[in-house]
Formats: sequence, structure tokens, C-alpha cells
Amino acid sequence: LASIDAHPDPSVIDVSGVKIGGGNLGMIAGPCSVEEPDRMFRIAESVAESGANLFRGGAYKPRTSPYAFQGTGEDGLKLLREVGDKFSMPVVTEVTDPRLVELVAGYADMLQVGARNMQNFALLTEVGKTKRPVLLKRGMSATITDLLMCAEYILSQGNPNVVLCERGIKSFDPSTRNLFDVAAVPMVHSLSHLPIIVDPSHATGRPDLIPACALAGIAAGADGVHVEVHDCPEVAKSDGPQALLPEQYAELAGQMRKMAELL
Ligand code: PEP
Ligand code: MN
Repeated sequence: LASIDAHPDPSVIDVSGVKIGGGNLGMIAGPCSVEEPDRMFRIAESVAESGANLFRGGAYKPRTSPYAFQGTGEDGLKLLREVGDKFSMPVVTEVTDPRLVELVAGYADMLQVGARNMQNFALLTEVGKTKRPVLLKRGMSATITDLLMCAEYILSQGNPNVVLCERGIKSFDPSTRNLFDVAAVPMVHSLSHLPIIVDPSHATGRPDLIPACALAGIAAGADGVHVEVHDCPEVAKSDGPQALLPEQYAELAGQMRKMAELL
């Protein structure tokens, strides 16, 4: 079902009115975690003004350490919904457990399946039973075939609304958090009709490298860009060191629009 043979035209995924694919860019921005209300409203207002069309924030955080901040759960979902509604941006948030799919789908416009859960087949099956658009992130050690097979799990349950995301893969080089595989974008487009966006934030882990990789992703034909934005990265609950400041996102958003116009 994910194959280009099944469906030669690019799929366009509608996320509560925001289209991704077939020339429509999904510009996802927001903090890694849902944090305090004031901060959330502030960041959302700024990224909306810059041209982001989807707002993100994790309420359930898959952390390497069980002692690290785990997210604010349903309170976070409620807040994210409120903030998205205020600025007319559909919201994207991660669901980490099949038992939470119904709850998260009650608040979110798009369900994110994170890199660590890409091959959580029970979770894929559960999100496949909803009709909610799914943002399926590539596992850090997953091949492109693995990624497409995971999309197949969702599609085969009757949910056609899948957007893929290249967010970097493991490499031997610790100078970046992951290795940004920009070739995954045209590769996926040659194999599948599904849209694929890029996430230069998790791919590089470094704000100074995000703009170049975001623009490279668009130049490679990406259907959108996912960027983490925080107004005070030093105090962020997660992924602060890779966050762009709102004013940096504003500048990048203008550059991304120009790059997209060239194609
Ligand atoms: C995130 O989007 O904050 C996240 C945890 O991403 P990934 O699953 O790509 O690491
Ligand atoms: Mn993050």
C-alpha cells in the first residue's frame, strides 16, 4: 500500500485543513516538550507569525533515562490543544503507548510515532485503527525499507494518512547527535507516494547546523520541515541544546519559503 506502484501520484495528507505533500509544505514548529502555559502561548504566537502551520509539543516523552522529565501527560495535551486553537494551528504530539492512542487522538490533530517506537507494531496497529494523520519518524537504526514497512502496518489497518520523517540515523561520528540522511527524501519519493518531511533538530542536535540541513531537505524535495523552537533553551525541559530561538526560526522560515519557490 505504501508503494509507488500501488499509487503513482503523490499522496496529500490533510491535517485538520493543513495539507502535506504534492507541493504543500508542512511547517511543524514548537518546543520538544509541552511546558508552562505562558511559554507555550508565546512560542506558538511567534512561530505562527513566522509561517509555521502546525504546532508541536510532547506531553509523553520517551526519555533515555527513567529519571529524566517524562512529560506532563493529559494536562499537557489539554494545553497543547488550547494553544493550537488560539493560533489556528493543528497540533502534533507523540503517542508512546498503544493504550494511550485513544486519549491522545482525542486532543491531537496528528499523532507522532517517535524514532524509538517506529517498530512498535502494537502501537502502529493501534494508530492505524484511527483515521488521525500519523507522523512516523524513522528509527535511528532503521533502513528506508524498514520505515516503509512500518508505514505499511498503519496503512494496512485502514488509515491512509501517513507522513514519514527523516530525523537522522546513528553514525560513528559524535560531532552531530545523529547523521542527517538527506538522500532518504528522494529515495522515499522514488519508492512511495507518501510525503516525507525532515527534522534537522533531532538529526543534528545543533542549532547552528539546523538552517543548512532544513534548506537541504527542501532542496531534496521534502514535503515539510520539523524544527524545535524554544524561547529560553537553557531552561527547556528536554532538547534545549538543539532548540532554535523564535527569531532564528523566523529567519529560517523566510529562507525555507525562498528555497521552496526555486523548485
Ligand atoms: C521528538 O520529536 O521530540 C522526538 C523525541 O523525536 P525522535 O523520536 O525523532 O527522537
Ligand atoms: Mn525533541
